[in-house]
Amino acid sequence: MNNNKIKKIFVKSYGCQMNVYDSDRIKNLFEPKGYQETSDVEDADLIVLNTCHIREKAAEKVYSDIGRITKKRTKANSSKAQFVIAGCVAQAEGEEIKKRAPQVDFIVGPQSYHNLPSMIEKNEEFVSDDFLQNEKFKNLLFKSSNKISEFVSIQEGCDKFCTFCVVPYTRGSEFSRPVNQIKLEIKKYIESGVQEVILLGQNVNAYHGENENNMSVDLPYLINSISEFDEIKRIRYMTSHPNDMTQSLIDTHVSNAKLMPFLHLPIQSGSDSILKKMNRKHTRKKYIDIVEQLKSKRPDIALSSDFIVGFPGETDNDFDYTMRLVKEIEFSIAYSFMYSPRPGTPAFKLNQIDKPIKKARLSALQSLLKEQQIKFNKSFVGKNIEVLFDRKGRYENQFIGRSIYNQSVFTNSKKNLIGKIMQTHISHSTDFALQAEII
Ligand code: SAM
Ligand code: SF4
Repeated sequence: MNNNKIKKIFVKSYGCQMNVYDSDRIKNLFEPKGYQETSDVEDADLIVLNTCHIREKAAEKVYSDIGRITKKRTKANSSKAQFVIAGCVAQAEGEEIKKRAPQVDFIVGPQSYHNLPSMIEKNEEFVSDDFLQNEKFKNLLFKSSNKISEFVSIQEGCDKFCTFCVVPYTRGSEFSRPVNQIKLEIKKYIESGVQEVILLGQNVNAYHGENENNMSVDLPYLINSISEFDEIKRIRYMTSHPNDMTQSLIDTHVSNAKLMPFLHLPIQSGSDSILKKMNRKHTRKKYIDIVEQLKSKRPDIALSSDFIVGFPGETDNDFDYTMRLVKEIEFSIAYSFMYSPRPGTPAFKLNQIDKPIKKARLSALQSLLKEQQIKFNKSFVGKNIEVLFDRKGRYENQFIGRSIYNQSVFTNSKKNLIGKIMQTHISHSTDFALQAEII
């Protein structure tokens, strides 16, 4: 129980990097109000669950966590805390949360959480689910929590309406922040030592914000503009859509040395028939063409993707197309999910594939992807690679960083390596990481 005067805030983030970014902003908003972060939910005066609605499991986890936290606090005899559900479950299921979890005090969607401090102060509104992207960004506070690498949200929402996806309904329509606003945020992070920015957006390469002259500019413009900061050594962006992978963005991977040779480009399926049913508006060939172009200009580029297996109507033949695409492209890392029917999306009403079939396909795809990841990591053993070290490891003198290809790299050093870009020699690889010696 928290008996002293300092108020404590507990924030749990579910799902994507965008939620991690939002959770940091929520913490920043409460700092001037005298709140300190705590990782102990029993000690908190304010509990915020920043939720994810992308798959059924993620949404259900929130309800079980609300129950678990309430039980834990009752058992510890903690004093009453304000309970907030933020994020995409709040946006999609505000009324359901009220019914299923009456102990929740405030419900706030991902585009209106800047209102949270005043909602709590005035105890005025229970649900805030407006889409206020522009107003939100003008009212946020930005303070770096990680001194070396920071996420920066540059674009939110989506107008693409893939038939499986809740994002257009939970995050609203596409919105791009102005260049100046983004650069001011990055300047703040630079003051505390940030050297890498990861530009975030649900469709980050559809970015079309305004520049200083009120002209609409694209992602390559923004990347080049950010790279003018001497202190920023590395730039990454995610997540991209194949239809917005322009020639100019491909060329920026060659012309801008600060843009890292790694691209997360979800395809979802290797079958044209399934891509059509998903309303992806791109074909297998278009995806392969993009990859070929990228590789012809930047042969070392590491590729990553997302896959959904068991989408309604997916046959063995369709799945085989996915497996063959993976074999043809070879990914450095990739994420795969069983299709999860989401209420309110067009695919929800379609006939669903049996769970054992979905499971078997997921398992086959995941073993292939794992094999490729291991092979990719192994190919660096005995080679030199540049790493930006950004945190301490679990063991004494251990440091962890990221290679230019986004792999985790571990090393041992008596000198503090945090914030250092070092040439390293890779001595061996594990499934998910590299072990290096400093050269
Ligand atoms: N904008 C990105 C794109 O166009 O691919 C994807 C963003 S989405 C937040 C992240 C990933 O979640 C998707 O790439 C997809 O693989 C997965 N996903 C989304 N909806 C899903 C669903 N209903 N079932 C399973 N996986 C889903
Ligand atoms: Fe969802 Fe991405 Fe499709 Fe938009 S483009 S609807 S975010 S999967």
